[in-house]
Amino acid sequence: MFNDKETFKQVFRERLIGNLGKPLAEASNADVYNILGSMIRERAGSNWADTNQKYKADKDKQVYYFSMEFLIGRLLGNNLLNMGVLELVREGLTDLGFTLQDVEEEEADAGLGNGGLGRLAACFLDSLASLQYAGHGCGIRYKYGLFEQKIVDGYQVELPDYWLQKDNVWEVRREDKAVEVRFWGRVETDAKDGELIFTHKDYEAVRAVPYDIPIIGADHRHVNTLRNWSAESITQPSRTLGVLGGTDYHKYLEYKRSVESISEFLYPDDTEYEGKLLRLKQQYFLCSAGLQSILRTFGKLDLPYEELPNKVALHINDTHPTLVIPELMRILMDEKGFGWDQAWDITTRMVSYTNHTILSEALEKWPLQMVKELLPRIFLIIEEINARFCGELMSRYPGDQDRIAQMAIIHDDQVRMAHLAIVASHSVNGVAALHTDILKKREMRLFNEMYPHRFNNKTNGITHRRWLLHANPELAGLINDSIGTRWKHHPQEMIGLIKYCEDASFQEQIAGIKRRNKLRLAEYINSKHGVWVDPDSIFDVQVKRLHAYKRQLLNILHIIHLYNQIKDNPSMDMVPRTFIFGAKAAPSYHLAKRIIKLINTVADVVNNDPDIKGKVKIFFLENYSVSLAEKIIPAADVSEQISTASKEASGTGNMKFMMNGALTIGTMDGANVEMHEMVGDNNMFLFGLRAEQVLDYYQHGGYNARDVYNGDGRVKEVLDQLITPGPICNHTQEFETIYHSLLDNNDEFFVLKDFASYVETQVEIDLAYRNRKEWVKKSIINIGHSGKFSSDNTISRYASEIWNIHPVLL
Ligand SMILES: *Cc1c(COP(=O)(O)O)cnc(C)c1O
Repeated sequence: MFNDKETFKQVFRERLIGNLGKPLAEASNADVYNILGSMIRERAGSNWADTNQKYKADKDKQVYYFSMEFLIGRLLGNNLLNMGVLELVREGLTDLGFTLQDVEEEEADAGLGNGGLGRLAACFLDSLASLQYAGHGCGIRYKYGLFEQKIVDGYQVELPDYWLQKDNVWEVRREDKAVEVRFWGRVETDAKDGELIFTHKDYEAVRAVPYDIPIIGADHRHVNTLRNWSAESITQPSRTLGVLGGTDYHKYLEYKRSVESISEFLYPDDTEYEGKLLRLKQQYFLCSAGLQSILRTFGKLDLPYEELPNKVALHINDTHPTLVIPELMRILMDEKGFGWDQAWDITTRMVSYTNHTILSEALEKWPLQMVKELLPRIFLIIEEINARFCGELMSRYPGDQDRIAQMAIIHDDQVRMAHLAIVASHSVNGVAALHTDILKKREMRLFNEMYPHRFNNKTNGITHRRWLLHANPELAGLINDSIGTRWKHHPQEMIGLIKYCEDASFQEQIAGIKRRNKLRLAEYINSKHGVWVDPDSIFDVQVKRLHAYKRQLLNILHIIHLYNQIKDNPSMDMVPRTFIFGAKAAPSYHLAKRIIKLINTVADVVNNDPDIKGKVKIFFLENYSVSLAEKIIPAADVSEQISTASKEASGTGNMKFMMNGALTIGTMDGANVEMHEMVGDNNMFLFGLRAEQVLDYYQHGGYNARDVYNGDGRVKEVLDQLITPGPICNHTQEFETIYHSLLDNNDEFFVLKDFASYVETQVEIDLAYRNRKEWVKKSIINIGHSGKFSSDNTISRYASEIWNIHPVLL
């Protein structure tokens, strides 16, 4: 199609005329995006077909990664990069009078995920394709992604994210691959030749139509598939009317609306359990449609179904897709004629599960009655799995009723999805060493005792292609110039940078890149807030979902304290700091939304107080998303990873910052622990309670937040400012909930307990930053060690230790 700049320009012009009827002079950036995108997708098309052909011919084992979320963000830049035509296209567009960066801004940011869990799924797809594994995504094509956040008068306002309003150039609708998913109705049981036959009757049918997105791997022409399902009504009137039991057209419209709502919205809850019928429908819709299509592909191989576990691996990203387990059992037994034991053997050898959280409110449970009504056949299968599992427990631990109650899948008229996932998987992994350890020793201790070989750790990772090569091309270029280009395929070779950590000219180049990234972010902030930020101030950044356990509150309380200090002593000696926040709060999470308001209120007060003389600036950047993260992270000096120890399973934001040379202020939580293991005390700023201490307080008590309030004048002063009239509390009670959560509810996340140690560590950062050479040295050491957190590394371990797959060489 095109392999050099001149051909690219020629094809591009022809397309512009052919498809849009426009000469170059009249083309907008949006036109350029659409033409370029379609050219790139077509260019990948033949590799896509070849990859699938190869898989089929070789009968290679396929991995399917089921996830309710894929936070993929924009694809154009990454696809150009992975196809190796980024520079060619950039120069070609410049010749034609366009800027690639402006064209990239035209793409809708696909926000089909909430945060870390969804972004992990997207990074994994990139690594699977780049490492030439046969691994695909199974997801839902939500019509609306995660809400768009606006800040109005300091408050979060949510707007629907109708991302499909712009044509999606990457997806292909596969009408011919549609399947049917069945809800409601009843199950009829018959006995035939001594065997029970189950028939699902009077169900409501939904048509699931897949939209495929090519996942383009780096350099090797390898293209996998992300298959997202869309829910549509069944249009054949005779069947539909039969289903509805009437001829009422309004009934049909009602049915159509209810069906389409299944793939309409992404649930905007991060970690908090959402107990809605529609959410359960979405989960089953994904599992059933995904499995049917996978089994159809397998069916074309002409192999006996006993071979399934050798040819297909099913991975579930948290418990949201756990229904693949009973759905697979149903298909094997009711449609393929297997008995229970053999179906169970096949299923458990195919399924593996990643646990993402130990927050108890996030452990999914579904009311038994709801499952029974919505999914009558699935309900029977879950009941049987539970009965057999409890039988096994009784014979293994006779008389230990307490243990059985704690471990049962069905308990208190609810289905515990994590228990179902553990019992039916051959592998259960946590997402960082500390998290896995807590799972094994505490949360899932009884299961670990029963299945000691099932639990394992796979520390999360991030794709260095998006988060370094694409987001920070100048840094990537410097790495190429100093250690060559092998690191692109073997990111752990970035360790070679460490030998330059004291090299003055290398340090200067690293510092120069950081400063230019900061200038670019300053321009962005200026365009949004109309305020010029000093690029020589420390850029101190906390961007992630807003959640009490992530403790944005600790950050802002420290800033209020800093403000108080400067007001007391306007000539206080400190390096100017720019605090940058970005965070969406779940729309129903009131405390989180109040914290956003507090950050914006403090920003307003501090940014406009002449006494502060620009020593402190605070910006809340609205609508934190993948594309915004790509702008912010390369410009950060300080990365805030300050969750209550034990609460952040891994974190992946922490890794993105490290890879871009920011220094971390953090607790010993999630993957921070492993970062610290590599870079040591000298190159990271640790503070606060350790996980063991936090868990002991939860277990045995002994923490009294009010003691901290009464004993530390700084804490008392700051908290009182939240509720007594003054610049922050403007005759309203809007921050009282925050105050009460800390004092009356005894500060569940130990914000006050860790305050003193956080303040002290922030002073250390101020002092450390003054020694520029030492700071840059630390930054280089962090970059050098960050290759270990490439998702390429993570995915090779999933491949060899869980899925048993190998690269497929095209
Ligand atoms: C990486 C990422 C996250 C996860 O950040 P954490 O700090 O690990 O919580 C969330 N949202 C977006 C847009 C991201 O890119």
